[in-house]
Formats: sequence, C-alpha cells, structure tokens
Amino acid sequence: MSSPKKRVLFYLLDGARPDILNGLMAEGKLPHLQQLAEEGTFRTATTCFPSTTGPAYLPFLTGHFPGTMNIPGIRWFDKQEFKRTRWNKMAMRSYCGPEANWFNTDMPAEIPTLFEVMGKSYNLYNMITRNIPDAYDLGKKGKSWLYMRAHFMKRHHPVDLQGHERIMALLNSGKDFDFLFAVFPSVDWDSHYHHIRDYRTVEAYQIADNSIGEVRANLEKKGWWKDTLFMLTSDHGLTPSHTHFDLGDWMTEQGLKSVGYPVIWRRKPKSAVMISGNSFGSIHLLNHDGAQVLKEQELMIHFGKTRMTELLREKAVDFVAYRGNRPGEYMVQNQHGKALITQQRENYSYQPLDADPLFLGHIPPVTHREALESTFNSLYPDALVQISQLLKCRRAGDVVVSARNGYDLRDFWEYPEHKGSHGSLTKEHMHVPMIYNQKGWATHSARTADIFPSLLKWMNKPVPANEGNALN
Ligand SMILES: [Zn+2]
Repeated sequence: MSSPKKRVLFYLLDGARPDILNGLMAEGKLPHLQQLAEEGTFRTATTCFPSTTGPAYLPFLTGHFPGTMNIPGIRWFDKQEFKRTRWNKMAMRSYCGPEANWFNTDMPAEIPTLFEVMGKSYNLYNMITRNIPDAYDLGKKGKSWLYMRAHFMKRHHPVDLQGHERIMALLNSGKDFDFLFAVFPSVDWDSHYHHIRDYRTVEAYQIADNSIGEVRANLEKKGWWKDTLFMLTSDHGLTPSHTHFDLGDWMTEQGLKSVGYPVIWRRKPKSAVMISGNSFGSIHLLNHDGAQVLKEQELMIHFGKTRMTELLREKAVDFVAYRGNRPGEYMVQNQHGKALITQQRENYSYQPLDADPLFLGHIPPVTHREALESTFNSLYPDALVQISQLLKCRRAGDVVVSARNGYDLRDFWEYPEHKGSHGSLTKEHMHVPMIYNQKGWATHSARTADIFPSLLKWMNKPVPANEGNALN
C-alpha cells in the first residue's frame, strides 16, 4: 500500500505579533487557532533583519536571508550600478509600486522558492511569484485594483475576505494541491494605519481564524486533514509609532543631499537613503571617488565622525551598523559607543569595545544556532547572524540604521500616515508566531528560515542548500 498523499497548508498572517495572538486566543477570539495550538504547537520564532514585508518572506520561501538573496529592503540602492549610469534599471528599487514585479528577477535565479520545489503549488497574494502559472496564482485577478482601494480607502478586509473565497473556490473545484500558501495582509495594514490593538486589527486576526476554520473543515471532509501539515507564521511584528524622523531630509540638512523614493531625480546627490518598514534605513554615500561600499575607516572620512555622533544623538536612532576594516567584521554603534561582531567561517562572536549597544555582554565564537539561542530572548534577537548576513550584501548600503521603537524614519512622503512600524532588530519586530499542527518537533530556538527545509522534509522532497535547519 502506498503511503497517503501529504500536503502543506501555509498561512502567512502578515504583521502578526505572538503576544497579541496569544492574548486574543486567551480571550476566546481565535477559536480555530486555539484548537490548533492545543493539538499541535504554538511557539515564537525570529524573522530576519530588516524585519519588513517582502524581504522577510524570503527565509520561509527560500531558506535564505535577505542579504544572501540580494534583496536587503523593500527599497534598495546599488551604488556600483548608480555610478555606472544613473538611468539604469538596476541602480535602485522600490517594491512598493510598479517595480514590485521585478522582485522575481532581482533574486538569484539559481535559488529556488518553495513554489518551484513543492509540487503543485498555489499562491495567494504573495509578491514572490517566479514560475507560478497564472492558474496557480489565486489572488492575481483583480489584485492591483483591490489593493489600491484598500490602501486609499483604508478598507483592508475585503482583500482578506476575497482571498479566503478564492481558497474555498479552489477546494470546491475538485482540484488537488501539494502546497497552498496564503497571505492575509490586513493585520499589517491595520497595524500600520490604525494601531496594533485597534478593533479593526483584531477583526483582521479573526478573518484569518475564520478562514482557517472553514478550510480545515473542508479538508477534514475530504479526509485530507490528517496528512496535511498546517503552518502559520508572520514576517515581522509591529510597534506603534509616535514620531516620524525623516532620515533622507536629515542627510540633506547635514550637507549630504539625498535621493530616495519617490524623489529620485535630484541633481548631483551626495547620498541615497532607502527606508523599509519604516524602522529600517540604509545610507549610501555618493560623495567619494569610486563605487565601493565603505568600510569603517573610509566611512569615518566620508560620512564624518562628527556627523556620526550627531546621527547617533537623534532620539529616533537606536543604533547603526556598518562594515569593519577587515573581512567578517561588523561594527554596531549607538550614542554610548560601539561593539564588534565577527564572523569567521561558521562561527559568530560579539565583543563590546567602548560600549555594549546590543546589551549582550561578551559572546565568544559560537555556531549560528548557538548565536540564535544566546540572543533569542534578548532585546535584539539573532543580532549576530542577522547583522552579518545583511552587511554581506552591497545593496544594503554603507550604514544601516535601526530605529528606536516608537519612531520611524520616513515622514513627508507617507500617505496615509503610518501609526505603526516595523523593520528594526528590536524583539517586538523580530519575534513572530509559529503555529503548526504537529507535536514533538525540535524545541531549540527557531528562525522562519527553518520552515523551508521543514516543509520539504514533510513532503519527502529533496532539500536544496539553505540557511535553515529542519525542525521535524
Ligand atoms: Zn509584513
């Protein structure tokens, strides 16, 4: 007798925070998820840096971090390409507009996504759609109109409700699937434009919960549920923002005229500033000869030590990170001083120099799993590995800025105004829920990158090289 057919049902509850999910469950507001947590596992995992929509989908969809995938933000800049010629498609990117479609070709072609290795794979609303035929892209038809209306009318829930209907239509059509990946975007949107605990945000959690209940009932009726792996996670948390600090304007005021989205046409810019989330920013200096990414020594000359001190004095800036002078060295600096992260082969270490900006004390060389373990419950989960992976990517810029909770880094150009933010390395942005209908999997600290090999292993499929470790 052949073994029963296995399937994976994956809900991405964009912007869901584990503590809020837990609270709503305790109030009895998410009965279907509560049942899943009781029958299976409800735990917290870490996402990646920057903790922002799009790049933060890469760990579970490809098993790799944004730096490895060369997509270090929802907006990015490539100094080398820009200096070659400014009117160049590869010089800068914003996935927040019409360039969103280029996400698929901006990634390395040789690294597969789950959609390419899981078998018959359906997508709902996620923007990484490489090699997904239209017939398998459930949300595609009418998506841009629905998303635009959601954005400008601040009416988000129709998107999630329609998404659920499309899933049910697929299940009722008699078609089968191996992998079904569904994004429910409204928790993120409602948290940005209202509040992380607004009644509309709570409703968005409940819409996903209802959908899970109905889909589960359908799969149970078909006799498929017991061989289906259910997985739910998120790409980042969010925190309420009270103050907007525009990093691009600050650079211009400091004499380093900046370009950034949507103002990309200024003459003779001295810098470019790219914001994601909006608690993450990358600064690219254009006021020097050559097109190289600057390491500490050159950075202090061209950015200037005084300017760095001024930047770190800004309340919105929690810390900055940049490359050290030697390969594998990364500096983390706040207003009190700096620390050194070193990556040598498979090992990561952290050494406070004149201060301890990440509040981690001294961490001797450890493996990437131990580095996660020892920082998981700190203020900056997975800081060592996440800062290293990001700064390996030249599109990440000369300096990256992680904002303090309560602040974001983009002001004038944001409409509607953002009242919530993510993207930083703080635990409120880095911790995400992970719920699956299985017990007895590995209990060590998990990253969302671990989901990629776990799903393939569940399906008995070959697992391509990746930066995660299977939990099953
Ligand atoms: Zn998101």
